[in-house]
Amino acid sequence: MLQNHMNKKKPTVAYFCMEYGLDETFKSYAGGLGILAGDYLKGAKDHEFPIVGIGIKWKQGYTDQRIDENGKPYDAYHNYEYDFLEDTGVQVPVTIKGSEVQCKVWKVTAFGNAPLYLLDTDLPHNPESWTTGQLYGWFGEERIAQEIVLGIGGVRALRKLGIAIDVYHFNEGHALFAGFELIREKVAAGATYEDAVAATKAETVFTTHTPVLQGNESHPIERIVYMGANMDITEEQLEELGGSPFNMTVGALRLSKKSNAVAALHGETANKMWAHVDGKSDIVPITNAIHMPTWVDNEMIVRAENGGDLWEQHMKNKKDLVDFIEKKNGVRLNPENLIIGFSRRAAPYKRSDFIFSDPKIIEPYLKSGKIQIVFSGKAHPLDDTGKGIVANLVKMSKLYPSAVVFLQNYGMEIGAALTRGSDIWLNNPRRPMEASGTSGMKAAMNGVLNFSILDGWWPEACRHGENGWQFGDAFESTDEKIQDAHDLKALYQVLENDVVPTYYENREKWVSMMKNSILDTKDYFAVKRMLEEYYSELYEA
Ligand SMILES: *Cc1c(COP(=O)(O)O)cnc(C)c1O
Repeated sequence: MLQNHMNKKKPTVAYFCMEYGLDETFKSYAGGLGILAGDYLKGAKDHEFPIVGIGIKWKQGYTDQRIDENGKPYDAYHNYEYDFLEDTGVQVPVTIKGSEVQCKVWKVTAFGNAPLYLLDTDLPHNPESWTTGQLYGWFGEERIAQEIVLGIGGVRALRKLGIAIDVYHFNEGHALFAGFELIREKVAAGATYEDAVAATKAETVFTTHTPVLQGNESHPIERIVYMGANMDITEEQLEELGGSPFNMTVGALRLSKKSNAVAALHGETANKMWAHVDGKSDIVPITNAIHMPTWVDNEMIVRAENGGDLWEQHMKNKKDLVDFIEKKNGVRLNPENLIIGFSRRAAPYKRSDFIFSDPKIIEPYLKSGKIQIVFSGKAHPLDDTGKGIVANLVKMSKLYPSAVVFLQNYGMEIGAALTRGSDIWLNNPRRPMEASGTSGMKAAMNGVLNFSILDGWWPEACRHGENGWQFGDAFESTDEKIQDAHDLKALYQVLENDVVPTYYENREKWVSMMKNSILDTKDYFAVKRMLEEYYSELYEA
């Protein structure tokens, strides 16, 4: 018999994102945003949530990082061909700067993910065919063109594919032009602009990711109009939505019924940051999570739950990492000694080379090999400061060749190897600039102990000295010098007084901390909880 009591059908969601990290071989992600989106679609598939992804089929993906003979990073791009793309036979037009550009729609289901539809302008005789060339490549006009393809092309693709959507989810402001297309459709069907905005708002939700103000994209209003992204919305109406210059985050906050930040602390930060935006949707916190089968050694979970030998299994993973590093860099680390993993995008606030700040303290550990550190991380192609940070890490690896390693071209494979095989996962951003971070969750569930500033997700999980360590006690200062000096002192204190002695002198305590780390994180920071919250807090709210 049919159950008709309260068994409401879950709304079908179109999830828009510029990037998806589904697999090492599929070069369509740059970093954390894409990794989250990839894990989201895998979780949706595993747990049967009706979600489809909308994205772009990048010809060259994100930059490949190479290190030259002087130890400086440079960017390399390659054209990628994939055999797992399914041809939907669907093509939709968008207008970019007055030219009609065709977008071919591909489908991807090869990675245990909910259906992902990707738009592609790389077609013979297509004007602006390079639009889908490089993820986050080039400058403002190209970015708008890419966002026209993602947002406007994305909505048109859903229509032509015949997929009925209840909720449009913009994962970051890049997808905002989808909202403009939704408004245009309604106006074309006879609605007033005001009614069309209200109806669009009722079916749209938005996730904001970046607590760094400059990281929130904005464009001069004229640029949006001459690129043709505005879909007949007037300059005045554009300014009402996103201000002038037009801020994509502000526009999305105003064009959604509900928004979210990606950790509890980030919720506070985002609400302060956008407090001045009148008419914005509420920003609630929904903490990120990970797809465990992608990142976590299930044997570690099984042993943590059943009292099995965690150390033995960890040493297996650690030796795999040592072999992996030797194959890549020709350096053989000592698996008996402490290994610290660190991989982050090289941006100044992440302070990647922080631990080297005082050679008097750190050098003896590196020379004796008691501390070994493995780094990885790319800088944005246009970020020379970030490239300088990478060059400095490479320099450190030459200064301490048996204790410091830099693995070039950070990606999912390196991310997985490091978050399984390190002993410690170091994270030292300048608080509160890390929105969430998911690499620490991967580490925690693999029994790799977090050693981190109380930023992003970590305040929600940290039991200091029980399941990992914090340093810095959540101190914040507007003076970077003061904050850095405070945090550095704290880092060295916990490293010298807790981390190193526990590793070398109290293995029993270390292993009990590994167990706590796994058991404390494996449910809450797994993708199912996150999906359920997106449904209850955003989609069904
Ligand atoms: C997990 C992961 C990320 C996200 O990590 P953060 O903690 O946000 O730095 C980024 N890139 C890769 C390749 C990853 O595996």
